[in-house]
Amino acid sequence: MLKCRQTWKNYIYTLILMFYYYIPLPSYIKKYLKRTIKSKFAYNYADIVKNKNLNLPIFNNKRFLSAKYFCPVCNSIQPHFLPLPDYYRKQSEKYGFVHFGKSEMTSLDTYLCPLCKASDRERLMAFWIINNLGSQIFLDTHIIHFAPEKSLSAMLKQLKLLNYKTADFVMQEVDFKVDITKLPFSDDSYDFFICSHILEHVINDDKAIEELYRILKPGGNGIILTPISTVIKSTIEDTAINTEEDRWKYFGQNDHVRLYSHNDFVMKIKQHGFILYELGIEHFGNEVFFQLGLKKTSILYIVEKRKKL
Ligand SMILES: [Zn+2]
Repeated sequence: MLKCRQTWKNYIYTLILMFYYYIPLPSYIKKYLKRTIKSKFAYNYADIVKNKNLNLPIFNNKRFLSAKYFCPVCNSIQPHFLPLPDYYRKQSEKYGFVHFGKSEMTSLDTYLCPLCKASDRERLMAFWIINNLGSQIFLDTHIIHFAPEKSLSAMLKQLKLLNYKTADFVMQEVDFKVDITKLPFSDDSYDFFICSHILEHVINDDKAIEELYRILKPGGNGIILTPISTVIKSTIEDTAINTEEDRWKYFGQNDHVRLYSHNDFVMKIKQHGFILYELGIEHFGNEVFFQLGLKKTSILYIVEKRKKL
């Protein structure tokens, strides 16, 4: 089993980072402190590959019974995760978005890791990725991470994966500036991609999925996540809903262009030829879901491109 930094040191490190901005020290000392502490949570890549699996930490230290949660992104245990910022609830109330809090994944109470600020979906992706690191999906393969989440991307870079690249339409610090509906990559060029919380922003999401399928090697895999409401029967989408106010009202965010229903999302992904694996609580188990601070309805969508016959 991998060692996770538990016990009292973990709490002290976490507390220092949480109150980092209030510590009355010169900024160069604070920066050094932050870098040093964060490195103490780092994974050892060789250990992960050797062990093949990341098991959950066992909270058996009686002095620290308050430890409940585990963040696989920064490899830390936590007594609490932080809630979703209240801004989203307030905006939903202001604009009348009736589906607030009813998405498959976004956990209102345990949304962010206090140490690395990873969201619940980043924790689930990280857990799955780490558990598959020893497999051929990740060893010596070409990986592309679209709209890279800061904490997850930092973790993947730390793991020293070979050929890990990032891409986005607007973000500055990425390897490729790209439009996901018109990717500048050749066919069958990547073994794995991560496309999380992008499709709900893209008007032509079919074209984006088509492109993801095209650039993936046959037999390759990817993660596709997007906000999915558990209470709507079909996807809400209308090009006439194009003002910021209306988008808050119908889609739950000013830059979203639709709100997916589960069935429509699944059908859309499959229509483009992907094999789709829906990994939920039955796959990971209650304990994993609890320790990662996930909603019970969370699903990790793993796609696979069919091998050529
Ligand atoms: Zn974390």
